[in-house]
Amino acid sequence: MSNGNSMIQISNLKKAFGDHVVLKDISIQIDKGCVVAMIGPSGSGKSTLLRCLNLLTVPDQGSVRIGERHFDFDSKNGKKTRLPKDKELAGFRARTGMVFQHFNLFPHMTALENVMEGMVTVLRTPKAEARTKALALLQKVGLADRAGMYPQKLSGGQKQRIAIARALAMQPDVMLFDEATSALDPELVGEVLNVIRSLAADGMTMILVTHEIAFAREVADQVVFMRDGVVVEAGPPSQVIDNPQQAATQAFLARFN
Ligand code: ADP
Ligand code: MG
Repeated sequence: MSNGNSMIQISNLKKAFGDHVVLKDISIQIDKGCVVAMIGPSGSGKSTLLRCLNLLTVPDQGSVRIGERHFDFDSKNGKKTRLPKDKELAGFRARTGMVFQHFNLFPHMTALENVMEGMVTVLRTPKAEARTKALALLQKVGLADRAGMYPQKLSGGQKQRIAIARALAMQPDVMLFDEATSALDPELVGEVLNVIRSLAADGMTMILVTHEIAFAREVADQVVFMRDGVVVEAGPPSQVIDNPQQAATQAFLARFN
């Protein structure tokens, strides 16, 4: 691969909603197998940045590369950024699995059917094979014994683990977690963090937007601190979390002590 070990390259990314500039010239490079924890106050643009990575939100300017797929954005002259064609866009989106704060499972499908759905409808995996793979993924997240249950019967932590299995079923190159544990009761956070930890051990490239600072310190190779649409400070946890250089980072982290 011409890009060496680099999996994600975000270059000079800009996004505004009307007059409100939410991402101001963001550049981040992430190697294959790397785990990046993104921290920062509410409203700093973390979710928008994640959404720009799979084009749920279309950036105004800059470029995004994931693996070998690359998109340039340029809304100069008042023109809206061109979105890639449907097929190209679907291919690009399939490279990233996204897990949100709220699990968005299909309520009328069992755990197993939730995990199978994308394999069958998007990847066109034969049903029997999809079932076998889905069961293996449920096993991976510790929920093989819940395969036949409907989401309403499951705890928040279980639902989130199914959402992770469902995202993994699409065989993404990258997993994006947007505050995946923020909506959970405290006693259910650990089981979801355990799954994320095991994905890190498997070498999955991940971006975790999180307020779990201790977890970020433990699992992340890089920590990115964002505020007001800018990367204020980035580096290993030993630097950004334990020895922040910027006053804004220090002030933010002081809240967690
Ligand atoms: P974070 O995830 O760090 O809390 P967000 O990316 O959600 O930050 O939001 C950054 C800013 O962008 C906020 O001020 C938010 O209100 C604004 N914003 C996000 N999405 C939209 C949207 N679709 N339309 C208008 N403003 C938005
Ligand atoms: Mg957010």
